Amino acid sequence: MIAPAGRWLGASVVLGRPVPVAAPYPHICRMTVTGLMTGVVYVVERRQCAACARPLPLPTPPTSDPIDPIEET
Ligand SMILES: [Zn+2]
Repeated sequence: MIAPAGRWLGASVVLGRPVPVAAPYPHICRMTVTGLMTGVVYVVERRQCAACARPLPLPTPPTSDPIDPIEET
């Protein structure tokens, strides 16, 4: 299998080094960043960190049979 080529742009900017997409996305939470265009300094929050993001849990199936409204009448 060929490793994908490219870089995680956001993580590369925050960390100040190229981050290859073949590697797992690094945590950038709690890091201080200076906006390239604005010069504004801010701290990356966990909700902005892709490494902290977790997939949503799958919905749980119903434990009992759903009530059929046609049979209830
Ligand atoms: Zn994180």
